[in-house]
Formats: sequence, structure tokens, C-alpha cells
Amino acid sequence: MKKIAVIGTGYVGLVSGTGLSDFGNSVTCLDIDEEKIAILNKGKLPIWEPGLLELVQKNAKMNRLHFSTDIAAGIRDAEIIFIAVGTPSTHNGEADLNALFKVTEVIAKNLNGHKYIITKSTVPVGTGQKLKEFIVARAPKGSHFEVISNPEFLREGNAVYDFMHPDRVVVGTESEEAAEVMRQVYRSLYLIETPFVFTNLETAELIKYASNAFLATKITLINELANIADGYGADIHTVAKTMGLDGRISPKFLHPGPGFGGSCFPKDVRALSAIGRSVGYESKLLDAVLEVNEHQKDRMVEKLKRLVPDLKNKTIALLGLAFKQKTDDVRESPALNVIEKLKNERVKIKAFDPAAMDEMHKIHPDLEYCNDVYDSVKNADAVMILTEWNEFRELDFSKLKTLMNSANIIDTRNLYDPKTVKSLGFNYLGVGRR
Ligand code: NAD
Repeated sequence: MKKIAVIGTGYVGLVSGTGLSDFGNSVTCLDIDEEKIAILNKGKLPIWEPGLLELVQKNAKMNRLHFSTDIAAGIRDAEIIFIAVGTPSTHNGEADLNALFKVTEVIAKNLNGHKYIITKSTVPVGTGQKLKEFIVARAPKGSHFEVISNPEFLREGNAVYDFMHPDRVVVGTESEEAAEVMRQVYRSLYLIETPFVFTNLETAELIKYASNAFLATKITLINELANIADGYGADIHTVAKTMGLDGRISPKFLHPGPGFGGSCFPKDVRALSAIGRSVGYESKLLDAVLEVNEHQKDRMVEKLKRLVPDLKNKTIALLGLAFKQKTDDVRESPALNVIEKLKNERVKIKAFDPAAMDEMHKIHPDLEYCNDVYDSVKNADAVMILTEWNEFRELDFSKLKTLMNSANIIDTRNLYDPKTVKSLGFNYLGVGRR
């Protein structure tokens, strides 16, 4: 059993800390956010993530998962320290490492004995080396430490499963001793033969960005193909499915939609482009992915205007606010872009999301937040499906028709078959399926 501190108790820190405690380690999750830690200490969750509450409660009850705001004490008490603070975009697209260096400063000042300092946050290539120098300059004389990169690949909405069944665990370190400690930390995964990739710090850091950039590019390609399909009446789903039959392509991440969002893809593609620029390499591909993605988001309101040309004073129902289903996270959600545009057109917005209304309310308190789908579509001139929640896959169309002002549907997630919905008397537009 290892003594672990996880600094930053957000989506990644909380899931990782809980998962590591479930593997049998003794874990303290630390955060500067007092409210978050108070909620966790009451046995509740500050975020919405399926399956997480049960796991938190189980491990807290077994006395191997703790929550605290005393970061210095947590550091002194642990042998292994994971850093999982946010690394959002700065105004020029680089990763903002303020929180990371603040935390590292506290770690450096509280070094006692030998510590393993592990970056789980997504950090630019070269950050691990910078952290080493930063700590050496501040740590008490005679202290010993290793910096290790261990990027996280979990998906919000499936985070618990992903942490417990990762496709791979990446460990960036050149020290065999540190590699062995990581094998022990992840012993449960090592025993079930999860692939472990041991490499140097820089390679581990780049693997994380490379993976997200690849996925964001794949989504962007299928969105562009969907836009071309739209123009000709080709069916993008048949195109995607058939592309996916080619073993070199694979069918995953070929679902067209309103553009990618969330807390990772946009900021990580921006950061990778900035990482390239800082060594004199201009990535035209990554910049194009970001640009196309912005256009894709814009196209959704353009689609709406094809059904409702004059939006002023109209009522539009938005189904889904989270950037994807099974999460309350609205960071860079395509819904944000749609809301801004609709507000500019003086639209009355009614919104419903099974989990993300509180988060969206913090940004847009002036929308009408509804109790359910049918409450939101009352008197609406159009419905826009923005998130692929399962709740939206089985709508009662005859009820919808009686409640709405006009039977218009924009399905940005292609949850429905256009022919079926049109046969029920709706004007319907999806993405890539005229
Ligand atoms: P988050 O914003 O949900 O959580 C970050 C936490 O860090 C917050 O609770 C915040 O209060 C805390 N924090 C900030 N400054 C602190 C400080 N000085 N001391 C202690 N705590 C502090 O972020 P997240 O979504 O969990 O992402 C964390 C990192 O993991 C990012 O680098 C992200 O790119 C990466 N990542 C995220 C995901 C994801 O799906 N969210 C997946 C893989 C990797």
C-alpha cells in the first residue's frame, strides 16, 4: 500500500484518487476549493460522473480515501504526489501552467524524505524537465525527488470505467526505481496485463497531445465530409460506417455533429499547435482543425435559420447543454456557441439538460431552464438537439407536435432517421443526411 496525495480534485483528480484508493493505496485528495472538499467530506460529489459516488463512499468508508484542503500537510504525509490541476488555454492558445507551478512550489517547500512527483495534468512537452529545475531551486537541501509524467486518458461520462480499464498506462521516467514505484501504484492494472508504456518524460507528454489531436482531427474530417454530403444528399452514416470497415481507419470517432467541445480537445489542440510554434514549427493541420471546428459550431444556427429564417422574438428549445452525454461539464460545449448566437438574434431560449443545467446557469443565468423535455418544447418555434443524451433518443413526437408552435427540429447529433421524423410531419435537418 502506497501513501498518495492527489493535488487538484476535479474530474481527473477525483476519479484518479478514488481509483488509486480502490487499487488498495491510501489516498488523500487535496484542493484549494474549500466548498468542493466540504461536499466530499459530507459523502457527496461536487461533479456529476456515473458510478463515482459509490466508489468514493466505499473507499472513504474503508478509511483509505480522504479529502483535505491542507495541501502542505498532505504533501509531507505522502510518498507519491500526483498533480491533477487544470491546464486551461491562455489567450494565445498555450496551456496555462499557473496552477501547476503554484502547486509545485508548495511541493518543493514541503519536500521531506524521498518523493515521486507525477504530472497527471496534461502539460506541454518539456514541462517535466522545467518542473525538475524549478523544484531543485526551491527545495530544502538534501531532499530527493523524481518527476514522472503519467498522462490521463479517461473520458468524462465513462471516467470510472476508463480509469479501471485503461487501454494503456503511460509512464514517462528515466529512472528504473520510479518505474517500479508506478508498477506498484497501478499493481491491479499491471496484474490484468494492461499495456504499460515506459518512456522518457517528453515522449509521455507528447503522447497525450498526439492522441487528442488525432481524435479531434478525425471528428473534424467526418464533420467536413458531412457538410459535403449535406450538399449532395449523400448519407454520411453509410459513408462513415463503410470507411470504418477499413481496418486502417476503424469506425470509432466517425460520428458527425456540431463540432467537438469539452475541457480537453479544443485546448489540447491549441496547446499542441503552440508547442510546435515554440520550436519554430507552424502546424497548418492543427490550426485548420481548430478553424473548421469553429465553423462547424457556427453552421448549427445557420441550419436553424434554414427552417426559421427570422429568429427575432422566436422561442427555441435547446435539448442538451453538456458537451457530450453523461456529464455536467459545459466547458467549450457547442451549446455555448449556439446560445451566444441565439442571444444575438434576440431569441427566447428554453433549455433542458439532465445534468448540466446548474453548470450552464453559472454562465447564462438568463435562460429559461425547464423541468423536462416536454416543458422545454412548449410554444417553441424549433427544437435543437445539442447533446446525444439517451433521454433524447425516444421522444414522443406526437406530444412534441401538440406542444410546439411550429414543428421544426435541428438534430445536431443525428439521433433520428430523417425520413421517419419527416413522415411524422416535422421539418427536420440533421448533419450530413439531407
Ligand atoms: P478541473 O478544473 O475539473 O479540476 C482542477 C482542480 O484543481 C479544481 O478542483 C481546482 O480547484 C484545483 N486547483 C486549482 N489550483 C489549485 C491549487 N493551486 N492547489 C490545489 N488545487 C488546485 O480539471 P480537470 O478536468 O480535472 O483536468 C485536470 C487536468 O487533467 C487538465 O490538465 C486536463 O487537461 C487533464 N485531463 C482532463 C480530462 C477530462 O476529461 N476532464 C481527461 C484527461 C486529462
